[in-house]
Amino acid sequence: MSAKSELFGKRVEVLDKGWIELQDMMGDDISIVNAARVSFLGESKGDDKDKKLLFYLLRHRHTSPFEQVEMKFRVRAPVLVWWQWARHRTWHYNAQSGRYTPFKEDDFYVPTIWRKQSKDNKQASEGVIDPAEADALTAEMLKHFDEGFALYERALAAGVAKEQARLFLPGFAVYYTWVVKTDVHNLMHFLSLRTASDAQEEIRVYAQAIYDHFFKPALPWTAEAFEKYVLRRE
Ligand SMILES: Cc1cc2nc3c(=O)[nH]c(=O)nc-3n(C[C@H](O)[C@H](O)[C@H](O)COP(=O)(O)OP(=O)(O)OC[C@H]3O[C@@H](n4cnc5c(N)ncnc54)[C@H](O)[C@@H]3O)c2cc1C
Repeated sequence: MSAKSELFGKRVEVLDKGWIELQDMMGDDISIVNAARVSFLGESKGDDKDKKLLFYLLRHRHTSPFEQVEMKFRVRAPVLVWWQWARHRTWHYNAQSGRYTPFKEDDFYVPTIWRKQSKDNKQASEGVIDPAEADALTAEMLKHFDEGFALYERALAAGVAKEQARLFLPGFAVYYTWVVKTDVHNLMHFLSLRTASDAQEEIRVYAQAIYDHFFKPALPWTAEAFEKYVLRRE
């Protein structure tokens, strides 16, 4: 088993200025097995039997033992990611407040590519636009951000409260830092939806980073069972 403590505080860069850190974690693969075995007032019976039981639990949707393990992350992501992430009601959230903390000039997400609107899915994208047009759009975006930020600073200098001055900022692109926590049952639900090909790329890279850098190393048996029974639906 991987030492969980090695993962604490590890920062994984996501998008142009975002990141994820694992702040805390309660439990591991064995905690799931032990939670299930309380039915018989028993505990771990060695690696082979424990792993087999964990796989049995997920295959048969006996999901409550997976709620006994929790993970807490500190995440920096643009509003367009939070807009989607916050729909997951089984997570617990605390967010940076633009009413308390002023924004900085580089607090905005600038995509490295511009994806094309999908032809057959109204909410999806496919391929990328012409590179020359992409460069021109990025230049316009940076100009727009500079102008918005200058107006934000002007409003603050005029004595406007931070809670209102932020109306000048480019809303969907603003980076916010949140602390988010959930249990492994609901984290798997989030990961299955948000790593899927129909999820928006910007949230997909956060979900994939959680899976690759934290979930899989911290919960290797659960990850193996998740890939087998949830992602591949065996
Ligand atoms: C590709 C994609 C496109 C989307 N497009 C849109 C869109 O266009 N518009 C839009 O509004 N949303 C959209 N969503 C958001 C989606 O509808 C869900 O709100 C979001 O994915 C959270 O899923 P969830 O409710 O299953 O998760 P959670 O809120 O974490 O809940 C997990 C599970 O708990 C149960 N649960 C939680 N709360 C309740 C409750 N109050 N009552 C009953 N059961 C509950 C449900 O079984 C639920 O599946 C989209 C999501 C995806 C992945």
